[in-house]
Amino acid sequence: MTASLTILGATGSVGSQALDLVARNPGRWRVEAITAGSDVPALAAAAVACGARFAAVADPARGAAMKDALAGTGIESGAGPEALVEAAARDAEVVITAIVGAAGLAPTMAAVKRGAQIGIANKETLVCAGPVVTAAARAHGATLLPVDSEHNAIFQVFDHARPDRVEKIILTASGGPFRTRSRAEMRGVSVADACKHPVWSMGAKISIDSATLMNKGLELIEAAQLFPVPVERLAVIVHPQSVIHSMAEYVDGSVLAQLGTPDMRIPIAYAMAWPERIATPAARLNLAEIARLEFEAPDLERFPCLALAWAAMRAGGSAPCILNAANEIAVAAFIAGKVGFLDIDAVVAATLDHVPSGPVSTIEEVMAIDAAARAAAMAAVEKRAA
Ligand code: NAD
Ligand code: MG
Repeated sequence: MTASLTILGATGSVGSQALDLVARNPGRWRVEAITAGSDVPALAAAAVACGARFAAVADPARGAAMKDALAGTGIESGAGPEALVEAAARDAEVVITAIVGAAGLAPTMAAVKRGAQIGIANKETLVCAGPVVTAAARAHGATLLPVDSEHNAIFQVFDHARPDRVEKIILTASGGPFRTRSRAEMRGVSVADACKHPVWSMGAKISIDSATLMNKGLELIEAAQLFPVPVERLAVIVHPQSVIHSMAEYVDGSVLAQLGTPDMRIPIAYAMAWPERIATPAARLNLAEIARLEFEAPDLERFPCLALAWAAMRAGGSAPCILNAANEIAVAAFIAGKVGFLDIDAVVAATLDHVPSGPVSTIEEVMAIDAAARAAAMAAVEKRAA
């Protein structure tokens, strides 16, 4: 049985692991479309290797280069935001959304509107527009399957028929590279330090989000969108070994967990093959070797991003969108060397103070708030950079 598949963000960490699974399972998937932000050579090479029918690059200035790179291959090419939407709208049964940031929103909506089975890695889309995306998924019969390891774990242990029996969702967090550092010790850290994740190897943005614990904050908001559990029943526990990927606690006191080695191909394969399970080359869990699992409460004072995200989740409406947009700008400014690591939470806090939040019900509203929050965050960055 062959399923058609589209991968948005195919040149990134998650996207290339999805392509690795395609290559390891000949005949299982036929690749309809793949996309990338701006890396034309990598996208063209991936398109040829997986036999995609369409390859689209987000940067509109790279259209000619994309065409040249695919000349003679028979693979169609496109460039610009509309080409990304076209990639998602083309007929593929399964779509993996592995774009980083709110840039994934419009293409994800295109896949949702045709009722596809969607493996969502692109958490920022659910953070900035969760209620709009999930309502559209219900209306169009799209299936949303979490690729994020924590949410994939919860999906696997969640009683979808009796959600009221779940008393608590407990997200595990590795704690990131600065888990044991004081604020003073975090002040001068470099981008390379922040990207040195103790457990997972991932793209730069999510690695830095893991260092500030904003990643766990975004994941709380993501969980609130994916699972019908009230926000006060979402919890976070730091678990440095990242063996337990997350847990659901039931009304009888039973706690169900999903465990595994930290290899994203496990949740990616789950979302790509669902409702089946397929073999993956991920290393097997050796608990005797690991010997010890540790847990500690998250420290909201040393990691204010988690507190800010928690507050934005409780506030609801456009607050998560503002938080996410400010964080994207702040992280980009940190990567560019414009501000320091501790400026990230300061920029997010300043933006949330400055941009009023309210209800949102359409994608257009989300996009307008996202733009306003980016402008305010940019101003906060300039102020701190000066
Ligand atoms: P990455 O930076 O490695 O890859 C991002 C992909 O998106 C690349 O293909 C890039 O070309 C494309 N892209 C970048 N900017 C774009 C834009 N403006 N428009 C269109 N495409 C653009 O990121 P990643 O680590 O693979 O993460 C992707 C998503 O998956 C993120 O939302 C992240 O939070 C989530 N996620 C990643 C991991 C992981 O292990 N890497 C785990 C859980 C969740
Ligand atoms: Mg995660």
